[in-house]
Amino acid sequence: MEHFQLKRAADVKQALDMATAQTSAASPANTPSTPSTRFLAGGTTLLDLMKLDVERPAQVIDIHRLPLDKIETLDGGGVTIGATVRNADLANHPLIKTHYPVLSQALLSGASAQLRNMATTGGNLLQRTRCVYFRDTATPCNKREPGSGCSAIGGFNRNLAILGTSDHCIATNPSDMIVAMTALEATVHTESPQAKRSIAIDDFFLLPGTTPERETSLDAGELITHVTLPAPMPGNRSVYLKLRDRASYEFALASAAVVVTVSSGRIEHVRIALGGVGVKPWRSHDAEAALLGRAPDAPAFRAAAEAALQTARPQSQNGFKVELAKRCIQHALTLATQTA
Ligand SMILES: Cc1cc2nc3c(=O)[nH]c(=O)nc-3n(C[C@H](O)[C@H](O)[C@H](O)COP(=O)(O)OP(=O)(O)OC[C@H]3O[C@@H](n4cnc5c(N)ncnc54)[C@H](O)[C@@H]3O)c2cc1C
Ligand code: SF4
Repeated sequence: MEHFQLKRAADVKQALDMATAQTSAASPANTPSTPSTRFLAGGTTLLDLMKLDVERPAQVIDIHRLPLDKIETLDGGGVTIGATVRNADLANHPLIKTHYPVLSQALLSGASAQLRNMATTGGNLLQRTRCVYFRDTATPCNKREPGSGCSAIGGFNRNLAILGTSDHCIATNPSDMIVAMTALEATVHTESPQAKRSIAIDDFFLLPGTTPERETSLDAGELITHVTLPAPMPGNRSVYLKLRDRASYEFALASAAVVVTVSSGRIEHVRIALGGVGVKPWRSHDAEAALLGRAPDAPAFRAAAEAALQTARPQSQNGFKVELAKRCIQHALTLATQTA
């Protein structure tokens, strides 16, 4: 583990000033993929990666005391979630449990109670892949060392992605929370000394392409301040279903977040996002299109599942995920519409 400077920020301006002072210093490690500054929230991802020498920031800015820990309703009925809100508090908040159950279910399916008590909204958005080679500095990995190669292609890839992959990286995004947020069409709000930005969650995460080291549209030193969710559609039902090797404390092999409104026996509105199978939380517009206007029945759900996986590109060990993800979508839709 490298030496680093630990600083504690009291407010957003101070955090940004500290980050700017470091990012403007001459340093080769000064890009969004290898930043010289990292913000420290719950620390459940960052500290592990620093101990493994995967992340080597020169400066760590502790932001957990920033006043970004509120969950509040918005004019118009949506909700705003501060970046330092803990995963456990978000999952158990009455507003979320009542109006966005898919988000509560996704959070509670992740990690362990102790981790959820530490982990934050901003940190969960930026957790890194669980690809074993990314965490092993003795092996080539384009995400960790651009240009070094991808050990997972042809190597151990059972847990990795089948949607959105490139010849440079096939890593899965491991988060449950952001799959639900994608189905809910969340917006990520950020602040830097230059500007405040609001980024649709689907645009926030990038495909690996030829630059897998760059995972999001955040710039170096840019701080996530909060996430907003639009008002829930009247009468909607939502479900998060996670399939994994064991019942708890395990990442998804495949998961589905569905938000669906049925009216007069037809699907009037639906959003579907997948986890465990994509390089980023995978919104399936094709599956949604296959469902719109149809009766909520098994043939419609199968058609949606087929549409969602039609571009799947399995690797040597993860072909089973294609059918697993299809069944996950079908079952999640069945659960969501059973109660409708
Ligand atoms: C054993 C284990 C099991 C797990 N299982 C699951 C699981 O099943 N499902 C799941 O979804 N997750 C799982 N996780 C991941 C866990 O959810 C994340 O580690 C956690 O959400 C990260 O949040 P944090 O606040 O601790 O982030 P930190 O570790 O503090 O930060 C993570 C990254 O985000 C950056 N960051 C944090 N906040 C901000 C901000 N406001 N603005 C800009 N950058 C920021 C940091 O600089 C760092 O790069 C697991 C983790 C562990 C260790
Ligand atoms: S899949 Fe991505 S993270 Fe894993 S070894 Fe290949 S480049 Fe690295």
